[in-house]
Amino acid sequence: VFDVLIVGGGPAGAAAAIYAARKGIRTGVLAERFGGQVLDTLAIENFISVKETEGPKFAVALEQHVKEYEVDIMNTQRASKLVSVGKRIEVQTASGAVLKAKSVILATGARWREINVPGEKEYRNHGVAYCPHCDGPLFKGKRVAVIGGGNSGVEAAIDLAGIVKHVTLIEFGAELRADAVLQRKLRSLPNVDVIVSAQTTEIHGDGKIVNALSYKDRVSGEAKKVELEGVFVQIGLVPNTEWLKDTVALSRHGEIEVDARGQTSLPGVFAAGDVTTVPYKQIIIATGEGAKAALSAFDHLIRSDDD
Ligand code: FAD
Repeated sequence: VFDVLIVGGGPAGAAAAIYAARKGIRTGVLAERFGGQVLDTLAIENFISVKETEGPKFAVALEQHVKEYEVDIMNTQRASKLVSVGKRIEVQTASGAVLKAKSVILATGARWREINVPGEKEYRNHGVAYCPHCDGPLFKGKRVAVIGGGNSGVEAAIDLAGIVKHVTLIEFGAELRADAVLQRKLRSLPNVDVIVSAQTTEIHGDGKIVNALSYKDRVSGEAKKVELEGVFVQIGLVPNTEWLKDTVALSRHGEIEVDARGQTSLPGVFAAGDVTTVPYKQIIIATGEGAKAALSAFDHLIRSDDD
């Protein structure tokens, strides 16, 4: 029986594992892919005190740091179910194993929704980006498009307009879906064009980096092309909680609801990182939340009469 079982091996899970193990309690990490989203990241320049690093390098450093401690790492294993059985919490894996724990930290992260057009995968990290806080500065003085006219797309366009030369915001529907106040702010900016009823059809490049985007005008049916250097896809971040439906309370976006201590609706079950309702999905935030969830789990353990 684990004292703390962490599900997820990204920045949040790794931080939780180190904080738990440092309390001398039995700690396990179950991860489908140890490292998480960081494995798909090229440059990281905003993890404070590390001026610049690369995602895969950062992921190796996470794993090495966790391995300094007595942590049972179960990599390439997917959790498929969580059940509370008396004083124990059981996590079932897709391969049929059942892991028992006194407390659980959910840190299964999230994934960016992809637009699924030709060029998106080929030019990912070479002009195609998903995170304006992370990659905005790479496009300083350049032309970019933001795909998606919801709150995150419009926020991204406002943010980027202060850094890049020009932003084209592309929305599939006939109007933007963002809050009115954001739309007003967006339309007041001189270097932003808004195109609605536009279906992105392709992201073009020269074989190395992005140089244009094509879309279909959904009213006239006409095909159009915009020359640019970057495309930010902002059509949603999907939390990895499909396996948790009906076990812990989720927001309407599917994020795990947590309080200030990372406690979920199920006693003994905590959550941290991109999978939760905590805003701003960033590595430094996920690691801080992971540490916090581990301390909360430890607090929970010392207060329970279970041994
Ligand atoms: P994740 O990193 O998503 O990790 C989730 C973990 O859970 C993984 O190990 C995964 O395999 C595992 N998992 C998922 N489901 C299951 C399951 N059912 N069973 C078992 N394991 C499961 N942030 C920055 O701060 N700076 C940047 O420069 C930056 N650049 C980015 C670039 C890209 C391309 C992307 C995609 C993201 C970027 N981010 C950046 C965001 C950052 O990567 C995330 O905020 C951070 O990784 C979140 O950490 P996490 O531990 O909560 O989740």
